[in-house]
Amino acid sequence: MSEEFDIRNTASEREYEKALRPSAFGAFSGQDKIVENLRIFVEAARKRGEPLDHTLLFGPPGLGKTTLSGIIANELGVGMKITSGPVLDKPGDLAGILTSLEENDVLFIDEIHRLSPVVEEYLYSAMEDFRIDIMIDKGPGARSVQLSLSPFTLVGATTRSGLLTSPLRARFGINCHLEYYDHKVLQRIVLRSARLLGVQCTEEAAMEVSLRSRGTPRIANALLRRVRDFAQVKGTGVIEPKITKYALEALNIDRYGLDEIDNKILTTIINKFGGGPVGLTTIATALGEDPGTIEEVYEPFLIKEGFIKRTPRGREVTSLAYSHLNMARDPQNSLF
Ligand code: ADP
Repeated sequence: MSEEFDIRNTASEREYEKALRPSAFGAFSGQDKIVENLRIFVEAARKRGEPLDHTLLFGPPGLGKTTLSGIIANELGVGMKITSGPVLDKPGDLAGILTSLEENDVLFIDEIHRLSPVVEEYLYSAMEDFRIDIMIDKGPGARSVQLSLSPFTLVGATTRSGLLTSPLRARFGINCHLEYYDHKVLQRIVLRSARLLGVQCTEEAAMEVSLRSRGTPRIANALLRRVRDFAQVKGTGVIEPKITKYALEALNIDRYGLDEIDNKILTTIINKFGGGPVGLTTIATALGEDPGTIEEVYEPFLIKEGFIKRTPRGREVTSLAYSHLNMARDPQNSLF
């Protein structure tokens, strides 16, 4: 939770991310099972000289979906074009990008759950038969022309797999569900990033950063950058535990890496529903959030770290949540 510190994607943050993005499977830490499988599928496709099957990557933001797509293209030795669901407004936009692809290229569509239904329709035949029908002219002169496309791989990324239509989902041959990273793996990522930035960082300091990064490499890298500023201005330039703790406190970063919405979810369950159990939709209504976003984006981390339990009667906070928020487990807290 912090006002001063925002890890959202500012332009400079994006540049920085690009510099730290691994470009080969060997440099990508964690998600072992996914990487192991993708390596095999990529090698097989490469040997056959065919495009890789269409691949769906899903998981919360910042876990490496764009990175993995870039690695797939690199390891296949092909080009990659990047776009996103909301940007592909009209079928013409999609046709433009599809016809620009070369043989076996990767087309990465971020936030694929946000494609408009008409663009999605067009994508079906492109994915299945590598062709699209486009309408030329309007009114009485309108006619449809079929265009052949080079074979390509669509890599779709989504934070909300629940919002994907079944016909679209069915057209992906490979499905990968990215999980939050554990602290050890994040520590490795932080040490690698520090090396690339040319700054010395101790293992202990890297662990400190990783513990507060909400299981997310993007957050870990962003925190590392801020801690580096503190080390250079207030310390010796080396990222060591003391300056790291000082910086993270000064930046008001939550001890467990929880963000504002995480904390709001926990306090709402405690203050309004006596700690639970309470249904997901009820929590979502109380927070003015979408139940699917809570279920797919926020809750998995809170469950993984042991702040929330799923019970047959709904969600319940654990004693860790009470102690983290400095709240007493008290039935008087409940309004219901
Ligand atoms: P997403 O597309 O899922 O939102 P990105 O692929 O943009 O996430 O990853 C965000 C940043 O985190 C990237 O700049 C990349 O450097 C870093 N990153 C993500 N996953 C890994 C990983 N497994 N190993 C190293 N760095 C990673």
